[in-house]
Amino acid sequence: MDRHGGEVPANPEALRALPGIGEYTAAAVSCFAFGIPEVVVDTNIRRAHARIFTGVALPGQTYTAAQRRLARDLMPDTDDDGGRRACAWNAATMELGALICTARSPQCAICPVADLCAWRTAGSPPPTEEQKTRGQAWAGTDRQVRGAIMAVLRRGEPVQAETLLAGLPLPEAEDDQRRRCLDSLVRDGLAERRGDIVALPGVLGG
Ligand code: SF4
Repeated sequence: MDRHGGEVPANPEALRALPGIGEYTAAAVSCFAFGIPEVVVDTNIRRAHARIFTGVALPGQTYTAAQRRLARDLMPDTDDDGGRRACAWNAATMELGALICTARSPQCAICPVADLCAWRTAGSPPPTEEQKTRGQAWAGTDRQVRGAIMAVLRRGEPVQAETLLAGLPLPEAEDDQRRRCLDSLVRDGLAERRGDIVALPGVLGG
């Protein structure tokens, strides 16, 4: 609100400077909302790229420098159309990964790029153990606890910190973890704390 006059900025650097906005979200908002040809890469796009261009079943857990380079190189030229094809490319690849080239049952028989797909051409070899390694389990992570805290704060009412933390529906989360997560949300500017009262930024007033 303060920095951008209440308007969501279009510029990816300005978006990334906002609390809680990372590389993917900034690129997606810039591209899909404002037509800026940023390189958007989510899980679905990474998987589609891995199969079509690298010939492997799954892209692995980490977004590597090579994958980032590939995604950038694949973006259509934007010089003559203001980025429209590049943004359409991002949307199309994301849809392909989400609807056709799914993780568990890719529908190669109806895939529009089946003839170009390196993984299919290679006989669809199964994923290696390394490729199968899933990301960090969600349950018990700080991300889960932070999400649960934000779910309470999003109701819009100020709440006493200890009451909020004690009421989280996460029996496995230790007190230390709950406090640490609340502190990190305040530090990141996603929550505001005054004494023992917490709320979304702006709710507590000046
Ligand atoms: S041919 Fe199969 S594996 Fe290749 S992109 Fe299409 S759905 Fe995915």
